[in-house]
Formats: sequence, C-alpha cells, structure tokens
Amino acid sequence: MSSVIGKTLAQPSFDELLEEATRIHGHICAGQVIGVRMAMIGLREIGITDPRGAERKKLYVLVEIDRCATDAIQSVTGCCLGKRSLKWLDHGVMAATFVNLSTGQAVRITAREEARELAKKYSPEVEGKYKQQLEAYRVMPEEELFTIQPVSVTIPACDMPGRPMQRVQCQACGDWVQDCREVVKDGRTLCRNCAFGRYYEVRSEEAGGS
Ligand SMILES: [Zn+2]
Ligand SMILES: [Zn+2]
Repeated sequence: MSSVIGKTLAQPSFDELLEEATRIHGHICAGQVIGVRMAMIGLREIGITDPRGAERKKLYVLVEIDRCATDAIQSVTGCCLGKRSLKWLDHGVMAATFVNLSTGQAVRITAREEARELAKKYSPEVEGKYKQQLEAYRVMPEEELFTIQPVSVTIPACDMPGRPMQRVQCQACGDWVQDCREVVKDGRTLCRNCAFGRYYEVRSEEAGGS
C-alpha cells in the first residue's frame, strides 16, 4: 500500500485535482471530470506518481481534441504546449495518450460514447442531462467510462521537449522555422504558410502608421 510511503509522497485526491482543474478551466463541467479521471488513470497505467515534480520530464501526453477535458488533462499532468510535453492532434476524438518517456510505457484512453446514456443509471435523481452526466462520470466505473489500451508510441525527435534541433529561414517570406516544420518544394525551403497557403490575409491598407 502506498500509505506506508508517508505523507511527502501522498498523491492529490480526485476531488483536489478536480477543484484545481475547475479553477484553471473556469467552470465545472463533465469535461473536467472526464479529463481528471482520464489523466489519473493514464498516470497510474504508465507508473508515474509525481507528474508535476520529480517525474515531470518523463511524461509526454498527446491529446486528440481541443475541448474542456484537455484543460483538465493539462492541469493534472502539468504537461503543456509551451513545454512541448503536450501535443495536440486535431482529430476531434475524446482521447488522450500518456507516455512514460523513460520506460516507453504508454496508454491510450478514450471516453466511451456509451457513457452518455449510462449517466441515467448512475445519477437518476439529478435533473438536466449535462448535470446528470457530470455527476455520473464521478462515480461510473472506469471500464464503463473509458476504453483503455496499452499502446506504443514513437515520438519523432523534432517533437520532443528541449531546445529546437534546428532553425531555417523560409526562402519565400523570410520567417524562421523551428523544429523541422519547414517544407522543401521545388528545391526551395519554405514555411508552411508559403508552402500550403496562409490561414490569414495581411490587411496592408491598415498596416501603415497613423
Ligand atoms: Zn468546460
Ligand atoms: Zn514563408
């Protein structure tokens, strides 16, 4: 039992983690409950007990959606975009993969669609669909709420935390591109805006001084 280890290694409880996630996210929602539980299971499955302290450099998380639960996963794990310990894949799936970089253990956890319907069974007394889901997801057994798959993940060197491996200049616009995101097209090294089209338009008539 972990209790013999002593207080210094005591892990925060679900309620403590949910409270912190809710504060960071700005509201309590079913996504916070899902995200906190998902992250706690993910850490447990890959053998990480101190994700924001001693083991912070061992942990890498890939999230497959940019919705509420993602904030909770970030809150519990301490992984974030700015440290490159969190990778966002724009797949629109309520799933996340937790990787222990030192052992190679990894687990992908998906929120089961069936859990939405099961919410009625676990909190029939709660009124309102979203409130009912929120309360049910707190107590629902994890095998009903999630699909948990051991996986292996190969993380490209250019996606790892740490200093950029290289910086190159776009031969069309002059922007500098880090982390191997440049594209070679017709023999020219380009940034992605120049290679694939821009997501923005420069409003040159308004860019000048007043
Ligand atoms: Zn939310
Ligand atoms: Zn460019």
